[in-house]
Amino acid sequence: MMKNSKVLRDGHMHSPYCPHGTKDPFELYIKQAIELGLEEITFTEHMPLPGYFMDPEVLKYCNPTEEVIEQYFEELESVKRSYRGSIKINTGLEVDYVEGYEEKIRGNLNKYGNKLEDGILSVHVIKLEDEYHIVDASVEEFGRLVRKLGSVEKVYDKYYETLLKAIKADLGNFKPKRIGHPTLVRIFNQEYPIEYSNIKLMEEVVKEIKIRNYEIDFNTAGHRKPYCKEVYPSGVFAELVEAYGVKKVYGSDAHKAEDLGKSFDIV
Ligand SMILES: [Zn+2]
Ligand SMILES: [Zn+2]
Repeated sequence: MMKNSKVLRDGHMHSPYCPHGTKDPFELYIKQAIELGLEEITFTEHMPLPGYFMDPEVLKYCNPTEEVIEQYFEELESVKRSYRGSIKINTGLEVDYVEGYEEKIRGNLNKYGNKLEDGILSVHVIKLEDEYHIVDASVEEFGRLVRKLGSVEKVYDKYYETLLKAIKADLGNFKPKRIGHPTLVRIFNQEYPIEYSNIKLMEEVVKEIKIRNYEIDFNTAGHRKPYCKEVYPSGVFAELVEAYGVKKVYGSDAHKAEDLGKSFDIV
């Protein structure tokens, strides 16, 4: 495979306002980006969740609250002013698609949309009957999902089916055009190996992305994860992305400054 020419943009980064991230200040991320020679970055903090679809004690570590996200926007505006001219910094959000909560997500997007210059739409949560499960929470939780659905294959099916719903969902005028870490379901593939054979379903996902002129978050975080060791997407999904000519935007998904721009040279 041909080596990519140097990537000059990191389109997926978190911030000190992430409840499961580090307290690294914005400045540390920005200095790292400048040091790496990047020309453009987007802070994509998690958007507040659209409701209490799970135990609030679990959810409070997932996404910032509505009060906290206001502080994020406010501080980011002032940081951007001080770095004007040295690097392009976009204000963004990583928006969770949660099946059944489309209306509230659309409402949140309408609320924050005028502040957004960039964004990502991600699936972390799948709905099984009336219960919601976080796919990337832990290897134990993933194991419970596998047992509940009956096989690893079925967990993958459910993930890609949910991704399809996210892509097709009417989330209003501010719906992000970039699909986050599209093969996140592979996060524990070293522990739950699989030769996933439902290529038709993955192809449908890629096709629906292409039809809408959306792009994908080419996310290197998985490469750093001990049970994953690959970027999202890799393998067949990545080949489909190439075949359909879907645009890729590199994202480190950094939750600490030193991870920014990481592994961009290995793929
Ligand atoms: Zn996060
Ligand atoms: Zn994510």
